[in-house]
Amino acid sequence: MHKFKVIHTIKEVRQCIKEWRKEGLSIGLVTTMGYLHEGHKSLIDRASEENDKVVVSVFVNPIQFGANEDLNTYPRYIERDAKICEEARANLVFNPESKEMYFEDAATYVNVEGLTTGLCGAKRPGHFRGVCTVVSKLFNIVTPDKAYFGEKDAQQLAVIKRMVKDLNFNIEIVGCPIVREKDGLAKSSRNTYLSVREREEALCLNKSLKKAKEILTKGETYSDKIRKTIEEEITKVPSAKIDYIEIVDSLSLSPVEKIEKSVLIAIAVYIGKTRLIDNFTFEKEK
Ligand code: AMP
Repeated sequence: MHKFKVIHTIKEVRQCIKEWRKEGLSIGLVTTMGYLHEGHKSLIDRASEENDKVVVSVFVNPIQFGANEDLNTYPRYIERDAKICEEARANLVFNPESKEMYFEDAATYVNVEGLTTGLCGAKRPGHFRGVCTVVSKLFNIVTPDKAYFGEKDAQQLAVIKRMVKDLNFNIEIVGCPIVREKDGLAKSSRNTYLSVREREEALCLNKSLKKAKEILTKGETYSDKIRKTIEEEITKVPSAKIDYIEIVDSLSLSPVEKIEKSVLIAIAVYIGKTRLIDNFTFEKEK
């Protein structure tokens, strides 16, 4: 029978993991902030396929939010999340409170340098320090064999891979493709903030990236041209405000002027007050 439970303490997680390990079972982890959608579900499905047991963490991590960001309004709905996890055959949802995760006098943080200076790192100071700290803690609590992350957050995926390598975590990091709505908008818990009109306007992110892909496929090699094409498409929407448009080397995440190998084209755009991100990776044919 499929066993499933929602637990709130580190002690309970460790107990469960210990029992699974005794039976020689493999463990997959999906870390989330909850308000789950098909994007998260694709990670859980993949984890279920590749592991005997799957743990999903649902935790809105306060230390990865900036002072003026949406920590307090971030959508939460644990009962619904639990149902989605159970249906996707996860075995455990770990839903801790902040005080369970952070001691009042916590003084240790995990900081990945270099890869975090551009893109979202430049716009959200302290964000990746918060992400890496909580993910390290979850890795230490759950001790998974594999952990699953979405390519939707491409910089996060690169940063976590580097952290795992640098800190010798014995965990395989699996990147999973972006799941989109039928009309192309990348699924995100933050899409719920959008009004009906903004939801329509938010299509400019994916549309602009599609245009960029078109001209790249036709042979365009100058980042400036790509950036301009994206900018033109986004500025057609009056309520859209560009946070960044970046063309970077997909491994080092440093900006490139001329496209010669694999690049990540990543954008962040405010639609009204909602900040959305999207990206794609382009491999230049030799
Ligand atoms: P979040 O709850 O936003 O922190 O996301 C938890 C995990 O789900 C991260 O690894 C995200 O990259 C991944 N994720 C979020 N949205 C999507 C999506 N549309 N497609 C694929 N993965 C996603």
